[in-house]
Amino acid sequence: MGELSLSTLSQANVFFRKTKASIQEKQIVLEKISGKSYRQTTKVLADLAPELAPAEKHRELGNNKIELKIVITEDLHQKLQDLKSQFSHKNPSMNYADLLEILVNKAIKQPKPKKSPSAPAVTKSISVGLKRQVFKRDKGQCSYTNCKSKHLLQYDHIKSQAFGGEHSVANLRLLCFWHHKMLTEKAFGKYKDK
Ligand SMILES: [Zn+2]
Repeated sequence: MGELSLSTLSQANVFFRKTKASIQEKQIVLEKISGKSYRQTTKVLADLAPELAPAEKHRELGNNKIELKIVITEDLHQKLQDLKSQFSHKNPSMNYADLLEILVNKAIKQPKPKKSPSAPAVTKSISVGLKRQVFKRDKGQCSYTNCKSKHLLQYDHIKSQAFGGEHSVANLRLLCFWHHKMLTEKAFGKYKDK
């Protein structure tokens, strides 16, 4: 058996505890990590038990901030770093949060409805008949809780078209300009969290 440092040995111990490894399994693992550095050992152990990768987490920090922990592949990490350096001429202090915001905003601005021959094409405008039914049902006023505004009304898709929502009485509602804006931002914000 090759060399094992104290740090790789303690990594192995944590791994054994989490995987409830048998004696034979322990021997195999120790052989695999002998002579390896701490980082190499981390990789070997992660490959052996990918299910031990930490789950995605988010934590509210207050002040409208969320701490988001995600596990990504080295490949994706490399791509993110490349992108970050591409943007850094505009903002040298750019961090991953800034990058994510740019990417998400870009994705939201250009929702590409999937057009496959089997899927029905997304019609661009809501028919007059459909509008009339929704208008009647919502009594010609904003349907947001107790708003009842009759100004600047818009037809809102409860499930956004970008996410497969369709033109139907059930999926449409009347909203005033402000509530339309508020709920649209909320919906896309929710989508971002997933
Ligand atoms: Zn309203």
